Amino acid sequence: MELVLEGVSKTYPNGVKALDNVTLTIPHGMFGLLGPNGAGKSSLMRSVATLQAIDSGSMKFDGIDIASQPDKLRDVLGYLPQDFGVYPKVTAWDMLDHLAQLKGLGKRSERHEVVKALLNRTNLWEHRSRRLGGFSGGMKQRFGIAQALIGNPKLIIVDEPTAGLDPAERFRFHNLLAEISEDVVVLLSTHIVTDVADLCRNMAILAGGKVILSGHPLELTKAIEGRIWKRFVTAEELEAVSKEVPVIAVRRVAGRRLAHVFAEQQPHGFEAVTPDLEDVYFQSLSASSKKAA
Ligand code: ADP
Repeated sequence: MELVLEGVSKTYPNGVKALDNVTLTIPHGMFGLLGPNGAGKSSLMRSVATLQAIDSGSMKFDGIDIASQPDKLRDVLGYLPQDFGVYPKVTAWDMLDHLAQLKGLGKRSERHEVVKALLNRTNLWEHRSRRLGGFSGGMKQRFGIAQALIGNPKLIIVDEPTAGLDPAERFRFHNLLAEISEDVVVLLSTHIVTDVADLCRNMAILAGGKVILSGHPLELTKAIEGRIWKRFVTAEELEAVSKEVPVIAVRRVAGRRLAHVFAEQQPHGFEAVTPDLEDVYFQSLSASSKKAA
């Protein structure tokens, strides 16, 4: 069971090329699609979710050709969109029951079993009689996953799910995603690098509609070992340093600026640092923007 994208391209009527020849094989488990705002992540998610057509290329999931068999894909799809809205005055139970009915679960007793199981799985059972308008951000997202899981989907798409969640809610949401992904394909789009580092066995980085890097997070991180260097800098120093060496990112550490540099040789005044996925991410973005320039 895998999702195979080949040469997927999409240009919007306003001329923006949101997807430019995207080729990816997304295996079973959790796959992280990482990229800055405007990279094309949502465009890709919406295309796979059959919500918009692509201009060229092909998308196949488990024997289903998505463009010509959108209904078949929808039968096995669970989707949590970026702007998942809820009816504020409806209770969690009623809303999920209604959505289950829309998904074709007609028989009342069976449907109620499904709704009960999903509320339990997402830790919302005790809140089943509360109105959705009173839910916290994390609870809303867990409810979003509950509705995405109706009908036992094989392909689950979650678009920027942890933006705006506090650390405890994020942790809880991560655990839920990790459990779900054991037997299905989960495509997780995010601009938060640590979400991917924490959760995903495979990943790709998208920028300007193109895949600029893909692979296993640990292997990609290992591949830049020995080439990342760090140094604390002041704002004034940073300007001068940036002219001398390729600064890929500046992090804030305990109120100070820490510059990370990608270079084959140790630059003067810098010390070696064990890279993490953020270094991979910023190095690949900086290499791709240089290539584009
Ligand atoms: P991401 O999800 O990575 O932030 P998007 O897929 O939302 O990226 O956007 C990719 C590019 O396509 C951006 O330049 C965005 O402004 C543009 N875009 C997205 N949706 C539309 C649309 N419906 N019409 C025109 N341009 C769009």
